Amino acid sequence: MKKPFVTNEQLQKIVEEYPTPFHLYDEKGIRERARNLQKAFAWNKGFKEYYAVKATPNPFILKILQEEGCGVDCSSLTELMMSEACGFSGSDIMFSSNDTPAQDFQYAAKLHATINLDDFTHIDFLNSLVGIPETISCRYNPGGKFAISNTIMDNPGDAKYGFTKEQMIEGYKKLQGLGAKHFGIHAFLASNTTTNEYYPTLARILFELAVELKEKTGAHIAFINLSGGVGIPYRPEQQEVDILAVGEGVRKAYEEVLVPAGMGDVAIFTELGRYMLGPNGCLVTKAIHEKHIYKEYIGVDACAANLMRPAMYGAYHHITVMGKEDQPCDHQYDVTGGLCENNDKFAIDRMLPKIDMGDLLVFHDTGAHGFSMGYNYNGKLRSAEVLLKEDGTTQLIRRAETPKDYFATFDFTGLFDQY
Ligand SMILES: *Cc1c(COP(=O)(O)O)cnc(C)c1O
Repeated sequence: MKKPFVTNEQLQKIVEEYPTPFHLYDEKGIRERARNLQKAFAWNKGFKEYYAVKATPNPFILKILQEEGCGVDCSSLTELMMSEACGFSGSDIMFSSNDTPAQDFQYAAKLHATINLDDFTHIDFLNSLVGIPETISCRYNPGGKFAISNTIMDNPGDAKYGFTKEQMIEGYKKLQGLGAKHFGIHAFLASNTTTNEYYPTLARILFELAVELKEKTGAHIAFINLSGGVGIPYRPEQQEVDILAVGEGVRKAYEEVLVPAGMGDVAIFTELGRYMLGPNGCLVTKAIHEKHIYKEYIGVDACAANLMRPAMYGAYHHITVMGKEDQPCDHQYDVTGGLCENNDKFAIDRMLPKIDMGDLLVFHDTGAHGFSMGYNYNGKLRSAEVLLKEDGTTQLIRRAETPKDYFATFDFTGLFDQY
């Protein structure tokens, strides 16, 4: 059974202070995951996790991760700015973008971030803007299908990202000619994987590529970035990834492929978002309407603008009706938000305890790609974000949007001054 990281008693107090809906984050859980990840890769001297800012772009969260020794993975101008404001700089920042605007590259270069190029043509683009730095990374796309022991995980051949194998070789040669001295290899081949084999399988592919690149181009490979993609069990019957086993699997590939090639000094990087934060956040909402037509509906005060994954991917988010954890799940509901879109359903045909108006519903695992995918459709406002601290107190780490925020981009008109 999935249990929220907050008890009903705690939550009843929290909602007295912060009106629903809001995203709640668990500081203790975040620190624990960061420490376990460090432990899993402690065998690698240069190991570093670059937290994927896009998963939860909140400076208070980034600060916690910074205290745990993490860097940040940015993909846009504002993510770079937020990281800068939090005190990240230089090699604390990985800039893994694609279809990158010139000003983003310029800002990344200004911060001396490590730039991870998404395409061969970006070599000339970057060179003409700011020159080629001594340390640079390239994103690899092996094409075809990506399988783990005969199970197809994803389809890199259809993905827009990265260099082909031939482009990696030509790219490293070209970059060396333009002054690059230390190289990274990056790839992200499957998302939200819950097998312990994802990183080890990916690592072996990248390690073999690293050996080939070194042989064919003479480049010094300084790091290999396994990027994101380690998943979490959104459903109660799914298994948690064993991160220590994952670290061991990568170590085995490292010792079998890199060490014999005289490359035992290569640093391993990760850019985990979902794994680090997903289970450490939840969306807290209140049941505000019930509707009995051809189906039974519960309307809550959150909508897809606060959590887009169910509407966008049909994603499952477990729901706990607070205070009714021990009651039988003998009612079948669609749990909906208020957007004028029929896909604004957090759950369809979900068996839950009988829900009464005013009940608090917790949507699990919204800590990554939750708040951050929010939007303002239907004029809905983004919610607050609240941090449950290690000592049990709470801190507002983002206030809820107000109508004034929504109208802010019309501030030149004078029309909305009254709000
Ligand atoms: C989204 C993303 C990540 C994080 O992915 P998760 O699935 O949240 O771990 C890491 N790196 C890059 C380049 C990404 O685009």
